Amino acid sequence: MTWTDETYRILDVDSDVTPSANLFIAHTLADDVEKVSAAWFGAALHGVPFDVDFRIVRGDSQLRYVHARAEIEFNDEHEPVRMAGTISDETERVLAKSITHDLEIRFETGFDQSAIGTAMIELDGTPVRINQAVCDFFGRPEEELIGRTWVEFTHPDEIPLLQVLQSYVDTGKSSFAGQRRYLRPDGSTIWADVHVSIVRDENGAPLYFFAHILDITEYRRMSGELAHMAMHDVLTGLPNRALLADRLTQSLARSKRGNALVSVMFLDLDNFKEVNDSLGHACGDDVLTHVAGKIKTAIRPGDTVARFGGDEFVIVCDAATDGEIKVIGSRILETIEEPMTIGENQVRITASIGIAVSNADSTPETLLQNADFAMYRAKNIGPASVAIYDEELHDRVERNLATTAALRRGLDNHEFKVYYQPVIDLNTGNLVSAEALLRWEHPSGMLVSPDDFVPLAEHSGLIIPIGSWVLHEACEQLAVWREQCPDLTIAVNLSVRQVLHQDILLTVRDVLSRTKVPPSSLSLELTESLLMEDVSYCVNVLQSLKEIGVELVVDDFGTGYSSLSYLSLFPFDEVKIDRSFIDGLGKNAHDSALVAAIIAMSEALGLDVTAEGIETQEQMDLLKGLRCPKAQGFLFARPLPAKDLTKMIRNNHRWSTD
Ligand code: C2E
Ligand code: MG
Ligand code: MG
Repeated sequence: MTWTDETYRILDVDSDVTPSANLFIAHTLADDVEKVSAAWFGAALHGVPFDVDFRIVRGDSQLRYVHARAEIEFNDEHEPVRMAGTISDETERVLAKSITHDLEIRFETGFDQSAIGTAMIELDGTPVRINQAVCDFFGRPEEELIGRTWVEFTHPDEIPLLQVLQSYVDTGKSSFAGQRRYLRPDGSTIWADVHVSIVRDENGAPLYFFAHILDITEYRRMSGELAHMAMHDVLTGLPNRALLADRLTQSLARSKRGNALVSVMFLDLDNFKEVNDSLGHACGDDVLTHVAGKIKTAIRPGDTVARFGGDEFVIVCDAATDGEIKVIGSRILETIEEPMTIGENQVRITASIGIAVSNADSTPETLLQNADFAMYRAKNIGPASVAIYDEELHDRVERNLATTAALRRGLDNHEFKVYYQPVIDLNTGNLVSAEALLRWEHPSGMLVSPDDFVPLAEHSGLIIPIGSWVLHEACEQLAVWREQCPDLTIAVNLSVRQVLHQDILLTVRDVLSRTKVPPSSLSLELTESLLMEDVSYCVNVLQSLKEIGVELVVDDFGTGYSSLSYLSLFPFDEVKIDRSFIDGLGKNAHDSALVAAIIAMSEALGLDVTAEGIETQEQMDLLKGLRCPKAQGFLFARPLPAKDLTKMIRNNHRWSTD
């Protein structure tokens, strides 16, 4: 027996070792010995060609895969005499093949178990292989999905994917990617992120489609919610400022193309703060939600209502005429005014609306700003009013804004002064009281009268600090005068904004204790009409003020509701007859009768009376004849700086009332 050098090398046997069948078998892996022996016997006994794959253990203990082939020569007696063949080391090839096989298995498992839906689809659209994730996505078993196109499971609003893919195939594209809707057996819509590769051969001819389907239903739902949240107000669900700006821009663009106008309404609730303060924030929130619902019912289908902030709403109406927009505005105010039941409370609320209509130069900002201007105008007209923006209004609002800023500076720079107007006892001619009247010494040197700035101070809320300052200043002055004139009292005007403000009781108590003025020496003057805005609340506050011990006075009596019933409703001590009636005394029978009636009525109700605005001797005589106890007016003195009244007090000044 001879071995080739190659055989020695493969077996890793030294070339001087004598070859033998036993030596060969000794190098064969034990597990394969039987196989090799069988092949040998097959060849030797039956003439079958010796052709066998098996494993050997080399001299250096390495395992190798080998392939042996041999021919056996037989003598005439059919006995094997010689064996000639080759042995080749196939290790590299075998291992490579086994890796490929392993990879294939792994790939298959990966395909089946992938969380991403994966499908092989024929060019005619029939799926031939899908994984579990595809079944999970569609909510259908494999049998329902294999072998039939998925057109019937596609959302009716989507173009069937097969149609899209076929156009891709024709135009030579390699893949499709997009988000598409499908239907579950229960009819619900599901979203998929779909990627389809068009698999082609080396010549570019399409072979099949390989698709990946990722379920993004939940993601779409969440991102939809997020997008909605970013654009809507959480409380009312209405569009928020951002979406409003967007809609307004679109409306303006449309209007410029179509020559139709856009109207914007700015709506602000009139007494929301009081509702919020008295009933609590949760109730306030409910009111806002109700109001949002009411506005929606009052506008036209294509109009937009947005929540602009706190208690402000903006309504955008496309292509409405001036007349139509006013009708919509009034309709909104009417529904808002209807009482609402919030929990156990009946809530009544009103709103003011400002309207601005677009022109060729309008931008979303200017339209909103103009509507806001108009809203301020509406507020000044009174609750539940509508105002339309015009240039004149713009100028006025600008001026008001400038004045408000000047008032604020005025307060910081001590530009306010208190003047005092004497109130005279008509029987004795003695000074009994002084009314504190606010003046603003404008830096320009002008003395501004309260009628010109108090309404603005009320509107901006500045009346709260200004009013407290007046109260303190007047009481401090009274404390000085009382040293000379112990019975003197002081009258201070209160705005209803101050009465409605939560700190009013605290402020009054604080001023009295700091200035050591007895409560009964302080009169607070209130105009009747304002108190009627919120009767029950005001009755409570006035009652509490009464308990502190201060006197309460109805100012300008006769100009407002002049209802007898409210005189007994509110705990007033005194009535001040308005100047306009005194003016008509002696000239106008109607006015004279009214003054006589007011004096008689007050006397009957046990109320004190002061007549305001006496300018002539005749007026004084008539009032004395009517037994009016006290009077105030230019006939006696104009409102004076404190030092002038101090002089009068020092001189014990007495007026002649004869
Ligand atoms: P009022 O409380 O009715 O004050 C009387 C007003 O009549 C004063 O005007 C006074 O100057 C004026 N007057 C008095 N006697 C005569 C007269 O014989 N003839 C004429 N033609 N007028 C007379 P004034 O000071 O301009 O104040 C106007 C209003 O401003 C006040 O009316 C009051 O409602 C308000 N006011 C004044 N001071 C304050 C304040 O400190 N706080 C608040 N909230 N309002 C104030
Ligand atoms: Mg007054
Ligand atoms: Mg008055």
